[in-house]
Amino acid sequence: MTGGSHVIVGVSTIVAIAMLTGEVPDRIGFGMVILGSVLPDIDNGGIITSVIPGGRSISKGINAIVGHRGFTHWLIVPIALILSGIFYSEYLIWLGIGYLSHILADSCTLAGVPMFAPFSDRIYGLRFFRTGGVVEWLISGTLIAGIFYFGTPIFMENVFPDGFKIR
Ligand SMILES: [Zn+2]
Repeated sequence: MTGGSHVIVGVSTIVAIAMLTGEVPDRIGFGMVILGSVLPDIDNGGIITSVIPGGRSISKGINAIVGHRGFTHWLIVPIALILSGIFYSEYLIWLGIGYLSHILADSCTLAGVPMFAPFSDRIYGLRFFRTGGVVEWLISGTLIAGIFYFGTPIFMENVFPDGFKIR
């Protein structure tokens, strides 16, 4: 999946969690979900590499060692983030949730992900669509509509509790 689609999936995940559990991240938590949703592609020059200092070099280094969709796409990474977040900080949990959304989204693509590595080398992919293809754009468009429809009241209530009053 492309970086933009991963951000859209990350925001959709926040909306889904808010609707299902009533839990809504604050602004920092919101940023952590977005960060987590693009972080795994640091192994392949994803948009994250142009945001963080030295990102391109880090990306090249990781790519040279493990290739694309190596350990950054293991399910165990977000699980570790979420579990350690339970003990240390809710922001780690939000980071882990964004990260998890990335791996699950990639697992729907043709290329798939080594989800259960290092325990299994098998690549898991539901083969629903090709990265950057028409189907991915359709899915992203549908999610954006869902974010506006379901997410607007949630974000207005939690991120802009006082509304957009001029004075
Ligand atoms: Zn990825």
